[in-house]
Amino acid sequence: MRSRVNFLIGARRGKVIWLALFSILSGLAEAVTLALVAQVAATLVTKAKRVLIHVGPLHANAPVGTLILVALALSLVRLALQFPLSILPAQITADVQAALRMTLFHAFARASWGEQSRDREGQLQDTMTSQVMQATGGALQTTMLITTLLTFLVLLVSAFALNAVAAAIVMAASALMFGLLRPLRAVGVRNARALSRSQLQYAGAAAEAIRVAEETHAFGVAAVQEKRLGRYIETSRHLFFRTQMLAKLISNLYQSLIYLLLVGGLGGLYLAGRGHVSSLGAVVLLLLRAGSNGQQVTACYQGLSQSIPFIERVQDAAGRYEESSPVVGAVPLSKVRTLAFENVSFSYRPGRPVLSDISFEMSGSQAIGIIGPSGAGKSTLVQILLQLRTPEEGRYLVNGAPTELYDRADWHRLVSYVPQEPRLLHASVADNIRYFRDLDDEAVGRAARLARIHDEIMGWANGYDTIVGPRADAVSGGQQQRICLARALAARPEVLVLDEPTSALDPHSETLIQESLSALKHELTLFIIAHRMSTLDTCDRVMVIVDGRLVAFDTRDRLQSQNHYYRNASLIAAGASGTARP
Ligand code: ATP
Repeated sequence: MRSRVNFLIGARRGKVIWLALFSILSGLAEAVTLALVAQVAATLVTKAKRVLIHVGPLHANAPVGTLILVALALSLVRLALQFPLSILPAQITADVQAALRMTLFHAFARASWGEQSRDREGQLQDTMTSQVMQATGGALQTTMLITTLLTFLVLLVSAFALNAVAAAIVMAASALMFGLLRPLRAVGVRNARALSRSQLQYAGAAAEAIRVAEETHAFGVAAVQEKRLGRYIETSRHLFFRTQMLAKLISNLYQSLIYLLLVGGLGGLYLAGRGHVSSLGAVVLLLLRAGSNGQQVTACYQGLSQSIPFIERVQDAAGRYEESSPVVGAVPLSKVRTLAFENVSFSYRPGRPVLSDISFEMSGSQAIGIIGPSGAGKSTLVQILLQLRTPEEGRYLVNGAPTELYDRADWHRLVSYVPQEPRLLHASVADNIRYFRDLDDEAVGRAARLARIHDEIMGWANGYDTIVGPRADAVSGGQQQRICLARALAARPEVLVLDEPTSALDPHSETLIQESLSALKHELTLFIIAHRMSTLDTCDRVMVIVDGRLVAFDTRDRLQSQNHYYRNASLIAAGASGTARP
């Protein structure tokens, strides 16, 4: 638990120390006020003018009026201390929440694509929102635990000073009660762990339901999907009920046990057979307050224990992302002259290679097509080309040196990508093309012209300020694809990788993209995954990937005469019968 709490509030040590200090001062002010009130009250009953104070073996004598003034001053001090005691926990908790979110996103943003893509849908959102909220609850419980525990101890020590026997009995009984409630606390933690897991599953299912809403409508399976989500909601409800119930039960049990403590303390006094009337009242008052603080200590400890699984989840996620963060080089890269794979192999799961022993080299501006059956490993190869994944074996060389040596910012400027599925931000067309990079309007316009989308944008009422994005109707699929092409071209890359840029396009958009690629191929190195043979028209050479192996890399003419897979695929594309098999 200590390492989790340290992860949570370790960076806020200064504020925690101040909180502890103010808590001790407030506890002391309360203890002395209570002791004075009890002893002055006992004296007033006897109508005496002076109070005989008994603190353990020490005795003192002071006027009633003076002691009332002292008690008043201490009450005011305690009142003033409530400001920092309220502000500091709120500050610490708010800081912790913001820091957890920043830490998580910072780690996620720097994680490898392999790690990012392993996350279930909705996992990061849930971790950054509800799991962080509950972990933050742990920070609040920690601050409250500090305050209540220190107050409890100060009150007990004060009671000890007044009457050692009674206080010792109460202290021993408190420790015993804390120990007795331990099994219940352990059940609470187990429940909280299961709740954290179940919340993630629920978030994943909810995110997925949103993504496939259109298909759900089309297939008329909303009721089944609702039932599935309902199961996750029910599991979370059950676990949430159990964690809340246990937290309440432990706190209430403790509250009722306080009276046993009190009676125990009095019993101790009786058995010891000593004590003054005035100090007896003070001890009873102090023990009552100590009991109530003890109850809060238990409740806070329980609350903190139950947030540990959420803290663990956040900490583990951040650690997992950080660990996967790729090594970043510092060698400047001003131009990509050659690209080469040397015996590159890759597998997602041990012993099941997806790419095996791939070697090729290329230089200059060329358009390279990549074809092969579904599942052959084309996208995986492209992800290695983009440095989204690292070869398991073999080397990936740029200008003769391993890619990981180069500065990442240079790499991202020189090598660009258009995914198969266009993904737009909910933002203006200009911002979608700019994509968080420092590019001026001229660069945006130039890229849009190259992608053959500029004229259409200018025809829209708001031009480049038109808001587009997921579920915005402003643009068609073909336009979205060309906006993504413009995004890829905006920073003037030297290498452009496209994952089947035309497969889902209308003939008009397809022609425009083909035109654009033909114009670009003299300026850039193009890698184009092609699911349609017509896409290869632009290409100088074509890689044929079958079962994770590069079985041919040649011109289209030579492949037509020498490669079985290519020939068959061409025949199918031309409408002839036959099956495209290598
Ligand atoms: P397609 O033409 O259908 O897009 P592809 O040639 O691009 O296929 P890849 O997507 O590279 O093929 O997939 C190659 C193999 O790797 C497939 O068997 C696929 O199941 C597997 N694979 C792809 N991505 C992952 C992943 N993230 N985790 C595990 N296996 C994966």
